[in-house]
Amino acid sequence: MSEWTNWSGLESSRPTRVEEPTDTAAIVAAVERARTERTTVKMVGTGHSFTAISAPEHTLLRPTRLGGILSVDREAMTVTALAGTQLKVLNAGLAALGLSLHNMGDIDEQTLAGATSTGTHGTGGTWASLSAQIAGLELVTGTGEVVRATATENPDVLEHARLGLGALGVLTTITFRVEPLFVLEATETPMSWDEALDGFDQRVAEHHHVDTYWFPHTDRLMTKTNDRLDIGVDEAEPLSALSGWWEDEFLSNTLFGALNHVTNRFPGTIRRFNQVSSRLLSARTYSDAAHKVFVSPRTVVFREMEYAVPREAGLTALREARAAIEASSLNITFPVEIRVTPADDIPMSTSNGRESMYLAFHTHRDADHLAYFALLEPIMRAHGGRPHWGKVHTRTAADLAPAYPRFEEFLALRDRLDPDRVFANPYLRRVLGD
Ligand SMILES: Cc1cc2nc3c(=O)[nH]c(=O)nc-3n(C[C@H](O)[C@H](O)[C@H](O)COP(=O)(O)OP(=O)(O)OC[C@H]3O[C@@H](n4cnc5c(N)ncnc54)[C@H](O)[C@@H]3O)c2cc1C
Repeated sequence: MSEWTNWSGLESSRPTRVEEPTDTAAIVAAVERARTERTTVKMVGTGHSFTAISAPEHTLLRPTRLGGILSVDREAMTVTALAGTQLKVLNAGLAALGLSLHNMGDIDEQTLAGATSTGTHGTGGTWASLSAQIAGLELVTGTGEVVRATATENPDVLEHARLGLGALGVLTTITFRVEPLFVLEATETPMSWDEALDGFDQRVAEHHHVDTYWFPHTDRLMTKTNDRLDIGVDEAEPLSALSGWWEDEFLSNTLFGALNHVTNRFPGTIRRFNQVSSRLLSARTYSDAAHKVFVSPRTVVFREMEYAVPREAGLTALREARAAIEASSLNITFPVEIRVTPADDIPMSTSNGRESMYLAFHTHRDADHLAYFALLEPIMRAHGGRPHWGKVHTRTAADLAPAYPRFEEFLALRDRLDPDRVFANPYLRRVLGD
């Protein structure tokens, strides 16, 4: 029996059967067999969810042989790819075609289906999540039917399955809206707490994308703003290989990882460590093709909880989180990440119907994440927060339902597309019910 483990090492399971389908027919066969046997099937991505959302029970399907761009429609400005394609493969393929996604998150390791199924998002822009950039998809339902969904064909399936939690079917293809390849200029500026928070709303209004990191136990934040430049990629001024390596690989990953090992053994050194590490990162400006500016390497393994609170409550929630951390005896090495998103219309999206501020809390894999997240989750809940579906939280169907106006509609579609719960696992039973 082989073991499935996620990226953070927090979740694992022992599926009875492991398959690597090469086409839709093989997925249909796996689903039909599970239905007959009354077992379950789970297509996983790259396991970058911190929750057990992709943990397989009986049959594990791996997406390894389901990658690549299938077609480009330059009139409609859409690109269709196999759902198991990794984001980094899509980005490179799009760039070669002179095209780009509108927005994305911090990394590009995930699969298209995995990232969209949990609502993976970036910050700012017209759309912040990858799901909001979907124009069409195809999936294999729990009854083994292959369903195409666009704005005109099965529009209800498209609406929900853009962010389907892996509960509605196995996605086989995804069609994204794309735009001409563009250049982003990133400006990273260290700031004090007051300077960063006082100017926060204005900064968000003036820049396309704003990402902010607060270093717990210090008064220091790092603000990253990304703005579109009207120049070609060949005119951009990327970081030199040396400074990119020094700041993004060495300081942010290698040294940071090594120092975390020290602070895990000697927690008393953490406050001093954060003072030093927040000052090591200095101001810098660079520009490059958008997908290269959005992402950074992440080689230090961590655990994360991220909540979306209504935008207007965001800074209050952040101030309360800071007060709670400072009043506790916890020693936190990882910065708290702060992002903002426009409202979207995806039923299970954490940004559904409201502009949002995302507050993300991280700990090193060897540190105790439970006490930290338990301290902060009640604050996020008190502000009407919705937890990222792929990041650690303790919510259940009973208390998630009131947070999502169209929760019941999603459950009704699940009943229709997966009546026998072929795609169920313990996480989905917890957050959606049986
Ligand atoms: C280092 C790191 C950085 C991250 N940065 C961000 C970020 O910036 N923003 C953000 O929002 N999130 C971020 N995340 C979270 C991550 O994007 C999500 O958890 C995402 O779901 C992971 O994608 P995956 O391919 O690993 O999918 P998995 O975690 O393997 O699976 C996620 C879900 O997708 C389902 N699924 C996979 N393939 C299919 C398919 N073909 N059909 C139907 N369902 C399918 C799985 O069953 C499961 O339900 C980060 C995570 C890590 C570890």
